Amino acid sequence: MDALASRTIKTTCPYCGVGCGVNASVDALTSDVIIEGDKDHPANFGRLCSKGSQLGETLGLHDRLLHPAIGGRQASWDEATDRIAEAFSQAIEQHGPDSVALYVSGQLLTEDYYVANKLMKGFIGSANIDTNSRLCMASSVAGHKRAFGSDTVPGTYEDLELADLIVLTGSNLAWCHPVLFQRIAAAKQKRPGMRVVLIDPRRTPTAELADLHLPLTPDTDVAIFTGLLRHLARSPAIAPDYVETNTSGLDETLSNASSWTIEKVAEQCGLKPSDVALFYQWVAETERTVTVYSQGVNQSASGTDKVNAIINTHLITARIGTPGMGPFSVTGQPNAMGGREVGGLANMLASHLELANPEHRELVQTFWGSPTIANKPGLKAVDLFEAIHAGQIKALWVVATNPSVSLPDANRVDAALAKVPFLAVSDIVSSTDTLRHAARTGCVALPATGWGEKDGTVTNSERMISRQRAFLPAPGEARHDWQALCNVATKMGFGEAFSFENPTEVFDEHARLSGFKPEVRRDFDISGRAGLSQVAYDSMPPFRWPLRANGSQTERFFAGGAFFHADSRAKFVTTPVKAVEKHQPKYPFTLNTGRVRDHWHTMTRTGRSPRLSAHMGEPYCELHPDDASRLGIEPASLVRLSSPHGSIIVRALLSDGQQPGSVFVPMHWNDETASNARVDTLVKPDTDPMSGQPALKSSRVTVANA
Ligand code: SF4
Repeated sequence: MDALASRTIKTTCPYCGVGCGVNASVDALTSDVIIEGDKDHPANFGRLCSKGSQLGETLGLHDRLLHPAIGGRQASWDEATDRIAEAFSQAIEQHGPDSVALYVSGQLLTEDYYVANKLMKGFIGSANIDTNSRLCMASSVAGHKRAFGSDTVPGTYEDLELADLIVLTGSNLAWCHPVLFQRIAAAKQKRPGMRVVLIDPRRTPTAELADLHLPLTPDTDVAIFTGLLRHLARSPAIAPDYVETNTSGLDETLSNASSWTIEKVAEQCGLKPSDVALFYQWVAETERTVTVYSQGVNQSASGTDKVNAIINTHLITARIGTPGMGPFSVTGQPNAMGGREVGGLANMLASHLELANPEHRELVQTFWGSPTIANKPGLKAVDLFEAIHAGQIKALWVVATNPSVSLPDANRVDAALAKVPFLAVSDIVSSTDTLRHAARTGCVALPATGWGEKDGTVTNSERMISRQRAFLPAPGEARHDWQALCNVATKMGFGEAFSFENPTEVFDEHARLSGFKPEVRRDFDISGRAGLSQVAYDSMPPFRWPLRANGSQTERFFAGGAFFHADSRAKFVTTPVKAVEKHQPKYPFTLNTGRVRDHWHTMTRTGRSPRLSAHMGEPYCELHPDDASRLGIEPASLVRLSSPHGSIIVRALLSDGQQPGSVFVPMHWNDETASNARVDTLVKPDTDPMSGQPALKSSRVTVANA
């Protein structure tokens, strides 16, 4: 082991958006990596979940991608990056900048993300850079922007401990954000009067903490929060002064809500009226209320409306930006928030600035000194792969993600990857469903450094920026993603703007951009961390943005209004309630997809840990015992699920936590880990019209014995 490995390094967990601090050290004798929770980190105060605590088991080199390859044959970095630069430059010359694209990841560090976004938007001149974060929280971004005029998470994790009522909606926090769940459980144990309501079609492990579980019909969240808005407007909880001074649009939104009585909500959502009434009563009487929401809200064709229906209930009560109160989006990935901050989505600009705003475009272009700037949104994830099918994209570079497994209608995505004229894939492992396509003639695979080997920053769900630090050497010829991007940018003729020597320089530019022209009002500003020396960057403690050049910070946003729309007011957004999808005899089950406790995404990391694999050893379909009995399905037998898009075979797991008529299948398994088990091959490619986020939880399928 090199000198890096001889001491304990403070870093952060690479999995979920909780962003836990980790102490990592390497045993000098055995080379084992010892992982402990970092007691000083404000996200977790020493706690780790099963995934975080087993990180040491995931670091072996046996299946790592160690050398660049062209057409499946080992090549030098020089040859591989020449090939990417040539393919991108040729496509741009012949077909224009919108004929190339980057598809990146919420697993990237902010510094990687910053360079990727700068290359596409400022130098290639296209906004065709999107990310798997589109699958994770794009609806929250769109909802925040509609309501607040900015993509701002108003509160902090501490609010979850200070609240007297926590409404968890569309979130299996116990498995998907376990340390946040542990923090709430500990607070509830200290203050047993604290209440938790779970709104989720499934009775998940999170329900164990809930005083009330509302197992609503899938995708009816807008109705329940629209009814809540109506109820709050008629209760003493309404905050007329706050609404009058700081918001607009309440009358129209209330008019839309006027018919949503408790009885009507109960019918729409398939709930008991008495349960809906109790929930509304608790919210009305509890000032310190936080509504936590995640993928059950975001991954829906009405995801943005769901987000705004939630935010409306906090605006009308002024329960926002105050300790123990607020709407709270928890992100799936470790750096979905960092990606948002650098503009790593096809409809965003750097530093939370607006692609559609000419003043913002000019600001960024001036700062970058770039020859061009994208002036229209690029293709969002699902549309991007459709455009590849249509032959519009000639060169694609996929970085740190596995769209063959994770995107909806995954067989069609596979077909797109098989036909795009040029494909480059950067990954840490040597074999993924996506990487296979990069073995085609002339296509490129690039070995990337992974967690423990790379340096940079990430932002968690409460706007906390933390360092990820290296404690292992880069294996083989692996390079950092920001380096690979700079290599290619230089070969495309943009070397001056991509001459970064290390992540410190990238972070510094990102921080300086956030404070450039401070007269242009925005929420994101970390210019207080600009100009750090290498030593200062290396020892930078976690901090929450904004942190301005004068050292001022804003712990919570919007208690006193000051929203980011031009009139400084928040907008109530009218959210029409959609009819519940009719029963479809041909495809009678609703398919919900999601995570299990001990695996992460497409298992390229957690699949290496025997302990993590022991929890759920193989892909399965959770279904209600009544449905199983009706279909003659025995527990643990193999079942085939089919949709108009594909079919898979998995093990039946019977559970009365599952509603009759619906099934749950984990998202993780893929053709590398089990045959015929990629659940996203079943998923329809529907998206939310505002956010472009795929509806990953409401496809229609059949279930039968295999
Ligand atoms: Fe890692 Fe999330 Fe678990 Fe924390 S809660 S240890 S960030 S997976």
